[in-house]
Amino acid sequence: GSDGVPGRVRVAVRLRPRNAEESVADADFADCVELQPELKRLKLRKNNWDSETYEFDEVLTEFASQKRVYEVVAKPVVESVLDGYNGTVMAYGQTGTGKTFTLGRLGEEDTSARGIMVRSMEEILANVSPETDSVFVSYLQLYMETIQDLLDPANDNISIVEDPKTGDVSLPGATHVEIRDEQDFMELLRTGEAHRIAANTKLNTESSRSHAILMVHVKRSVLGAEDVIPSETDKSSHFAKPPKPLVRKSKLVLVDLAGSERVHKSGSEGHMLEEAKSINLSLSALGKCINALAENSAHVPVRDSKLTRLLRDSFGGTARTSLIVTIGPSPRHRGETTSTILFGQRAM
Ligand code: ADP
Ligand code: MG
Repeated sequence: GSDGVPGRVRVAVRLRPRNAEESVADADFADCVELQPELKRLKLRKNNWDSETYEFDEVLTEFASQKRVYEVVAKPVVESVLDGYNGTVMAYGQTGTGKTFTLGRLGEEDTSARGIMVRSMEEILANVSPETDSVFVSYLQLYMETIQDLLDPANDNISIVEDPKTGDVSLPGATHVEIRDEQDFMELLRTGEAHRIAANTKLNTESSRSHAILMVHVKRSVLGAEDVIPSETDKSSHFAKPPKPLVRKSKLVLVDLAGSERVHKSGSEGHMLEEAKSINLSLSALGKCINALAENSAHVPVRDSKLTRLLRDSFGGTARTSLIVTIGPSPRHRGETTSTILFGQRAM
């Protein structure tokens, strides 16, 4: 576990409740996992008599509220972004386990349903000053190693620019929309979602086969320590210049990753197989980078995929990263659930 240490990855696991179908079809079978949230432990049932125990930074049961999930997974990251550091929150798991529920729910009618994206923006807007600070958002889809602008469908091949000196990553070709209030942001998310559906229909794919990436750029004016306004009685500061504001830029990246399920090679061919290979490539590249962080390795192999190149300035250094792995309870998906748990374990 990282306990909020910058540069390391905090990992939470979240179990979704059984859905209606599973409640009926698997009524005679126990869940494949048993959670012990107070101990931050998860037991994975291998069979009726044997189980394996894993520890996480946080264990979120099917009863965990969206508010609690935000508070333990995202809030510390958002706070460090407000302090001027880069931060990332990623959701990883099999399709249907709750990644979009966790990150992307708008909760327009019922605000308690709001996910991490909306709650993070609420927190940011409540803390920046409209006079001196700014918040700009871009929203992208990464599909088959191509970055598409979810805010401008014509913009379907955005390139990544890396500053060779600072290592900072930017997407100058992406639409950046200024966000002044919650309504601006809700509208942006709705537009992005509509464009995502349209783009995926055109590409003949499911949204679970691509990564959705929301980038929030925060720019704040702060007074530097040496620029503190001198007091009237401080003679030595007689010649001090008027305070000059310092501009601090940081970035919050929220990633709803493509479904981690293995696509069976035998059953798929052509386009589907290429799609599956591309997802495997980016998720395994991501896995390697977060393992390197966990092991404090000097070399983080960011160059292996677009996803990791895009997240490069979020890995290590002063950046803060939170990973939430989502799982379902069904014993039928024990295999996928096991590989999701192991992905999370390797990140710690
Ligand atoms: P994913 O994005 O991982 O494919 P979704 O977020 O779309 O999965 O969730 C799949 C289904 O499960 C949706 O109907 C969603 O509302 C439901 N679901 C997911 N997580 C939860 C949860 N924690 N509580 C209740 N329902 C959930
Ligand atoms: Mg989803």
